[in-house]
Amino acid sequence: MATPVGHGLVGVAAYLLVRGGAPSRSGGVALLAACVVLANLPDLDLLFPILLGEGLNPAYHRAATHTGAFALLVGALCAVGALIRRPCEARRGVLIGLGAFGLVASHLALDLLTHDNRAPYGVPLWWPLDGAYVIAGWTPFLPTRHGSLSALLSAGNLMAVVWDALLMSPIVLACYLWSRRGRA
Ligand SMILES: [Zn+2]
Repeated sequence: MATPVGHGLVGVAAYLLVRGGAPSRSGGVALLAACVVLANLPDLDLLFPILLGEGLNPAYHRAATHTGAFALLVGALCAVGALIRRPCEARRGVLIGLGAFGLVASHLALDLLTHDNRAPYGVPLWWPLDGAYVIAGWTPFLPTRHGSLSALLSAGNLMAVVWDALLMSPIVLACYLWSRRGRA
């Protein structure tokens, strides 16, 4: 899996793209936070063993929340939530749902592009239609360890954070420049 920094920077890039074309700039912090949270949402499965009193057991990681079905579910729930809040703005609700789907799907895409040294490799992208784990042939993102506190704070994980920031920075910069286009 890519690090929360790598996933979060995808959220920042999405925020810049959305805000750059938006007529109103109100609610920016809430939208930025929502984008970053949605881009990291599948890794909530790391909290499952903690809630179950099993510490940092990685056995629950990269399962149901790392599937296309989960991305579809989150997108649908966000769309329904937006439509309930503003029933007369159907187009807005659909766009919010698509955005939420895209951000969760971006998480799966980055994890597919992450070097994995623990079987099963990759994510169960097509579950429940197909339970096979899939991973890209090109994996530029570094793997991370999260089985213990010392693993979380390891030099390898720190290196992965820095590497993710380096890989994602050009994309965020491009989105920032796009969002500033036409402004003196
Ligand atoms: Zn993940």
